[in-house]
This record gives sequence, C-alpha cells and structure tokens, in this order.
Amino acid sequence: MSYRDIKAECYQANLLLPEFKLIDLTFGNVSVADHDRAVFAIKPSGVDYTTLTESDIVVVDFDGQTVDGSLRPSSDTPTHRRLFQAFTGIRSIVHTHSRNAVAFAQAGMGIPCLGTTHADYFYGEVPVTRPLTPEEIVSAYEWETGNVIVERFQRIDPMEICAVLVWNHGPFVWGPNATKAVENAFALEIVAEMALKTAQLNPSVQPISKDLLDKHFLRKHGSRAYYGQG
Ligand SMILES: [Zn+2]
Repeated sequence: MSYRDIKAECYQANLLLPEFKLIDLTFGNVSVADHDRAVFAIKPSGVDYTTLTESDIVVVDFDGQTVDGSLRPSSDTPTHRRLFQAFTGIRSIVHTHSRNAVAFAQAGMGIPCLGTTHADYFYGEVPVTRPLTPEEIVSAYEWETGNVIVERFQRIDPMEICAVLVWNHGPFVWGPNATKAVENAFALEIVAEMALKTAQLNPSVQPISKDLLDKHFLRKHGSRAYYGQG
C-alpha cells in the first residue's frame, strides 16, 4: 500500500516551517492524516530540516504502529495521534515552538482576540491547557499532552478555534490540509506578537466586540462565508 500522497504533503509542509521562520533548531513537526485508512504521515524524530527528504517521512496508524518508513517518528507522535482520534474533522496538525506563541504558553495565558487579524483565523481567544500533573508527565507524557488538549476543547469547537497552547510548552495548530495548517500556525504567531505588543501599549485593553468577531470570522468560515473566490 502506497502512502505517497500524504508523505509528499507532509514533506512539503515541514519545509514550510523554516521558510515561515516558525522553527528554531528541530523544535516542530507537521503531520497529515488519511482518516479513511486511519493513518498519518509525520516528520521523523530529530532530523534537521536541511537534510530531510520525502522518503524520511514516517507513516503511523491510529493505533501507534509504524506502517511505512525506517526512521523513528517524531517524539510528539502520540499527541498528534490523540488529536486525530478526537478531532475527526482535521487532516493536518502543526506543532512549533514559535516564540511569541510560546511566550503566552509559558505565561500560562491564552491569546486574547484583540483585533480583526485574529478574528479572521480564530473565533475567539486561543486557549491554554491546564498544566500536566506530575503523574501525567512521568507516564505517557506525549499522549497525556494530547489528552489535556482534548479536555480543554470539551466546550470548544476545534473547527472554530484551530489552535491551542499547551501550558509551559507551545502551540498545536490544525487545518483541513497541511498548507492551511501551516498558514494557521503562521497566523497564530503573528497574532501572538500583535497581542503581546498591544498589551504592552495598553495593559487594560479589552477583547474585540462580539459583533466585529462574528463579522470577521463568519465572513471567511462556515456556511455563510463570502470572503475570497472560493
Ligand atoms: Zn514541542
């Protein structure tokens, strides 16, 4: 069975991370799922972006078994697997340690929606998870990271807020395909930087109004969208 389509999509998207300056060293990865076959392609562990090849991409099934590839998959693979299981509408996940988003994660704060740039991509505050417990950290750490994200989204639609900050760690962002997921990760980093600067200028700034949030998000997303040529 060939996995060329998802491996190629995954490879190309991983290369976009350094291009968008979302990556320092090797911190970050992109995965692309085929829900019909219950598998996903993901970057191998610890491989430098400058030497990564398409054949290095590893394919793992939704039970965690490697089905294609000779390298070890990213150490974050169980987090991606947990999210693909829980969020069936998403096809690609991007994890980075992009600096401004990480600043919010390390501060234990969500990214408030302070303007229309944010509202074009995320339908409200990008949430932060709770900290992992000591038990969760010493047991199946990466799987439990997925669990705290799923827990945080109990009352949030992952199609409306396509990103989360893991406490003390960094962002996981997703989308319907790999290119869109990387774009969302880049948008997250931009709005994180904007929010940080806005809060420096005005520490008592308030979130965008519901009217403006609805206008900007809903004209680009969902059944009543009218923005663009799609
Ligand atoms: Zn990480």
